[in-house]
Amino acid sequence: MAEIFREVIARGERLVADGATGTNYQMRGLARGEAPEQWLFQEPDKVTQLHRDFVQAGSNVILTNTFGGTALRLAHAGLENDAALVNQRAVQLARAAIRDERVWLAGSIGPSGALLEPFGTLTREEAIAQFAAQAQALADGGVDLLIIETQFDLGEATAAYEGARSVTDLPIIVSFSFDMGTNTMMGLKAAQVAKEVTALGADAVGVNCGRSLDENLINLQEMRAATHLPIWMKPNAGLPRMTDDDIAIYDVTPEMMGKAAARWLEAGAQIVGGCCGTSPQHLREIARAVENTRVSA
Ligand SMILES: [Zn+2]
Repeated sequence: MAEIFREVIARGERLVADGATGTNYQMRGLARGEAPEQWLFQEPDKVTQLHRDFVQAGSNVILTNTFGGTALRLAHAGLENDAALVNQRAVQLARAAIRDERVWLAGSIGPSGALLEPFGTLTREEAIAQFAAQAQALADGGVDLLIIETQFDLGEATAAYEGARSVTDLPIIVSFSFDMGTNTMMGLKAAQVAKEVTALGADAVGVNCGRSLDENLINLQEMRAATHLPIWMKPNAGLPRMTDDDIAIYDVTPEMMGKAAARWLEAGAQIVGGCCGTSPQHLREIARAVENTRVSA
C-alpha cells in the first residue's frame, strides 16, 4: 500500500485527507483537557466511527488517533508505559474503518510536548529516540505512511524525521503549524521549512492547523514557490470563539471550507483536508472540491 501511495502521489493525483480528531471528539463527548488517546481504551467504537465518517465523506487518507503518541507526551495521560500499545491499538481501530483500497492509513506523529535544546531541556538524541519508538509502533501496527504534523521548531521536526526514517521506509510527510499566522511559534516561515524538509528527503511537506484560512493560504503559496515536493494542506476551519460554557465554535461553514479547498488546489496543494473545527460535513465539501477538479481535468 505504501508503494501504491507513492505512485499515486508521483502521478500528481489529488487526494483528500481527513478532518479534525480532537474537536470532533469534543463534539462527541470528550472532556476538554482530556487526551484524545484516552478514547482508544474508553470509547473505541467512537474512535472507529469518526474514521468511518471521514471515509464516507470522501477521505482517501485518514490519520490515526496518535497525535500525542510519544511516550513523553503520553505521560500527561498516564499512558507512558503503554506507548507501543496505544499506537498499535489506534492503527487497529482506524484500520477497521477502511473497506476500500483507495484509502490509506497515515500514522499521526505530533510534537512531543517538550521543547528541544536550546529552547528547552529535551536533547536531540532523546527526541530522536522518542519519535523512532512511536514510528516503529505505528509501522509494526501496519500504517501505510507517516505524517509528522503540527511542527513549529525545525530541531524537533528534523529529529522526528530522523527518528522515523531510522526505523521505516514508509512515505513520510512533514507538516507545520503557523500558529502566529504566517510564522510558526518559533518564528519559522513556510518557504524556509519547505526547503529544509525537501533537503531531508521527505515525501511531501505541508501546512496544518494554524490560524485563519487567509493566512494559511499565504503559507501554502510560499511553500509552493519554495519546493517541488507534493504539498499537504490541512488547515483549521479558522479560529474558534469560545462560548460561556467553554465550547469552541467554528464559524467557517462546510460550504466556506469547500470554496477554500478549491483555492488550495489552484495554489498547488495535492493532498487536502482540514484540521481543528473540520467536521465530516466540512470534509464532504472539501472532497467535492477535489472531485470537481477531477471532472474538469
Ligand atoms: Zn488543528
